[in-house]
Amino acid sequence: MGKIGDNYKRLRESIHLDISIVVASKTRTYNEVGEVIEAGATLIGENYVYPEALNKYQLLGEKAERVRWHLIGPLQKNKINKALLIFDLIQTVGSLHIAREIDKRVERAGKSIIPVLLEINSGREESKSGFLPDLSIIKEAILEIEELRNIMIKGLMTMGPMYGNPENARPYFKITREIFERLKEVETKNSMMEILSMGMSNSYKVAIEEGSNMVRIGSLIFGERIK
Ligand SMILES: *Cc1c(COP(=O)(O)O)cnc(C)c1O
Repeated sequence: MGKIGDNYKRLRESIHLDISIVVASKTRTYNEVGEVIEAGATLIGENYVYPEALNKYQLLGEKAERVRWHLIGPLQKNKINKALLIFDLIQTVGSLHIAREIDKRVERAGKSIIPVLLEINSGREESKSGFLPDLSIIKEAILEIEELRNIMIKGLMTMGPMYGNPENARPYFKITREIFERLKEVETKNSMMEILSMGMSNSYKVAIEEGSNMVRIGSLIFGERIK
């Protein structure tokens, strides 16, 4: 086994099994993704639907079907149909508008339901999409999404502002966790708060301390990104 496989295994052994690891594989080749699948990875996260994710998916052939694919980058309306071909879960539903656009296309893609996470713009950053970290705004959105038959909300995802020091990200993970817990009290037909996706290579330990049960890790497994 090569270095990437070793890195994945070491990481998997160091994190409690209740916490899922999404291997964030943007810019990595299909061979690199293949190696991490061979090492036992079960969740692959891609940022760019087309051509990057779709190409890798096709090149990986049978190996692609052994794992589940999560979209972790922003979704544009004109890529939704393609996204629905390969992704098992969309982590980046950041507005009602995109939720409705996805919903319209699910059946056409031959599926009945697509699981999603609501993306929370926990740092209130203008450059980022996502729902503001405000319980009433998100509650309202969940009630609106209850009207959509083809979407199932499985939890929340946040990136938080990027810092050199992961401690600085802690307040953003904390507020997202608080909202996650409060939303467990909101009962609708198509929402449940099971997944809390927070933490990347430099911040995953802090994120786990703050209640994350799904981390998204790239460079720690593949090495620094050059592109
Ligand atoms: C790239 C990316 C990651 C992983 O980042 P690393 O620092 O390489 O671990 C996690 N989440 C999202 C949304 C990303 O785009």
